[in-house]
Amino acid sequence: MPEVAPMLIVCAEQARVEAELVGGRLGCPSCEGVLGPWGHARERVLRGLSGARLLRPRRGRCRGCAGTHVLLPDLCLLRRQDEVGVIGAALAAKVAGEGYRRIASRLGVHADTVRGWLRRFAERAELIRVHFTRCAVALDPEIGPVVPAGSGIADALEAIAVAARAWVLRFGSGDPWPVASRLSGGVLLATRAPAFTWAT
Ligand SMILES: [Zn+2]
Repeated sequence: MPEVAPMLIVCAEQARVEAELVGGRLGCPSCEGVLGPWGHARERVLRGLSGARLLRPRRGRCRGCAGTHVLLPDLCLLRRQDEVGVIGAALAAKVAGEGYRRIASRLGVHADTVRGWLRRFAERAELIRVHFTRCAVALDPEIGPVVPAGSGIADALEAIAVAARAWVLRFGSGDPWPVASRLSGGVLLATRAPAFTWAT
């Protein structure tokens, strides 16, 4: 069994997600069906640069397979308490040459937490690079090759940036890291995610 249950990364705008859910415009991650409203998932803490807040994600139930799925806002990554923007800032700082302790104190995150993100990102760098390069090409078939940036993690970061830009060009505005969360199906830094899911 994969450790990651099928779930869906959605827009952080609650009203829009609600409308999509009620209108049957959210596809089921497990089958061809669509999701309808199905209560809320458990409350969780989400830490951002401006502090922590409580988040209670919506849940949907598939009208086809009857499976229930948590609709995680794209500010998050699966099983991470920090906003993807904070995690992304740490990854970018590492690629720019900053050490994990300095990154941690600047972002107000525990040093071990930052070290964990960086280690996981480095372990998955090639998988991430390949996945986001594919995303970029799928979003924009005309896109040129992703230029090697000099190291595994730099190449992975560059691929994320290119894919996020291609997404914005195609679908409109969006911050790069929430877009990256969507394009990874929330499992950017998951432990043993079998594969990324494709979600736009
Ligand atoms: Zn389904």
